[in-house]
Amino acid sequence: MPNIGIVGSGIAGLHLGLFLRQHDVPVTIYNDRAVEELASGRLPNSVAHHHITVQREQALGIDHWDINEYGYFCHHHYIGGPESLVFQGDFAAPSRALDYRIYLPRLVEDFQERGGEFQVRPVRAEDVVTLSERHDIMVISSGRGAMSGMFPRRADKSPYTAPQRKLCVGLWHGVRHSEPRGVTMSISPGHGELLEIPIYSFEGHVTALLFENVPGGELEELANADHDDDPAAFQKLTLEKAKQHHPTTFERIDPAAFRLTSPRDLLQGALVPTVREDYLRLPNGKYALAVGDVHTVVDPIIGQGANSASYSAWVTGETIIEDLGFDERFCQKVAARRAERVHAISDWTNLMIQGPPPAHLLELLGAMSQNRAMCDEFTNNFSYPERQWDILASPERTKAFLAKHAG
Ligand SMILES: Cc1cc2nc3c(=O)[nH]c(=O)nc-3n(C[C@H](O)[C@H](O)[C@H](O)COP(=O)(O)OP(=O)(O)OC[C@H]3O[C@@H](n4cnc5c(N)ncnc54)[C@H](O)[C@@H]3O)c2cc1C
Repeated sequence: MPNIGIVGSGIAGLHLGLFLRQHDVPVTIYNDRAVEELASGRLPNSVAHHHITVQREQALGIDHWDINEYGYFCHHHYIGGPESLVFQGDFAAPSRALDYRIYLPRLVEDFQERGGEFQVRPVRAEDVVTLSERHDIMVISSGRGAMSGMFPRRADKSPYTAPQRKLCVGLWHGVRHSEPRGVTMSISPGHGELLEIPIYSFEGHVTALLFENVPGGELEELANADHDDDPAAFQKLTLEKAKQHHPTTFERIDPAAFRLTSPRDLLQGALVPTVREDYLRLPNGKYALAVGDVHTVVDPIIGQGANSASYSAWVTGETIIEDLGFDERFCQKVAARRAERVHAISDWTNLMIQGPPPAHLLELLGAMSQNRAMCDEFTNNFSYPERQWDILASPERTKAFLAKHAG
């Protein structure tokens, strides 16, 4: 029976750890923060799991949040401009957004109850060799922090060297959910996007407003304004920007009830989309495999990073169960099996944040506003990113997709 060491208890480490425990594989997760710290602290993100990830949660026995109560069912689109467009696309099966400060601690509990070992200790890159002596392979899933530097950046898959969006995400009271309950994807051309997400958090069912702001645009201010310095001014600024740039969300805001659920429920920052090498050979001949954000960081504009991390964890788990050893061949198999989806996620996301947006993307969005079946297919492809990339990888492919729907 192999023995697996995992660094990091985000979705990548925990989904892999839980998968391995289902197959009775001994596994230790090393995490720098205790469970109580995962549950407290600042809002880390505003993650939506698409149905394909929900299915993995069902298979892992961690589907603790009834999809009909906690899920959402469609995307509402708004595209601003001289002639604004409003349209909707439905999922075949719902997605779900949960506060990770609730989600991850519950998964650690599940992992420990099922015999997984959870050790609280920060791991440095130079500790990995020593730890690897206790395990057959080290899986590094410590997110996009310093440890990711262990794996060289792949310039061929990483077109940006700077953030393309300045992010500002908060959990808010006072935003009436859309009907049917869905995520609103609102585009203010030249200035950025707003993702309005129905999310379950400590204050119940609330709304995440994730402003994806183009550097230098009219919305960038949101990513730099200091909430704690003057909460009322921050709230006013958010309302003004929503009114001016994202009107279909603004019209569901009750200004009298509009406030952050807590000062710590706000995250501002930016990230550089990066794809890194899949694995490395340690000096003692063992291997370290990158899974999750350590391997691929994507902008959250289409909500795919955690879905990608979960998928990658699942593929890694399956390969561990079936393979004969933990050598370079093993790492190459994991890399090849996940590449199609993980790279499609990264390529599709990078296209969505390209400035100015490519003409074939605009053409697709315009066509979707006139064709519900087309928009439903686009929406459902949030669970199948490789199919989305089949449509968007080139202007010719988009044209063929439009022709298919016209026919
Ligand atoms: C604003 C925002 C919105 C997002 N929305 C979505 C969305 O809608 N859908 C989606 O799929 N994705 C979304 N994402 C992306 C998603 O949050 C990440 O892709 C995902 O959480 C990465 O998971 P991970 O397990 O790889 O890493 P992490 O979640 O970063 O977990 C890493 C763990 O490792 C620990 N750790 C770090 N360093 C060490 C160390 N040296 N030693 C030991 N432990 C260590 C950390 O404490 C942490 O517990 C969003 C991200 C942001 C910022």
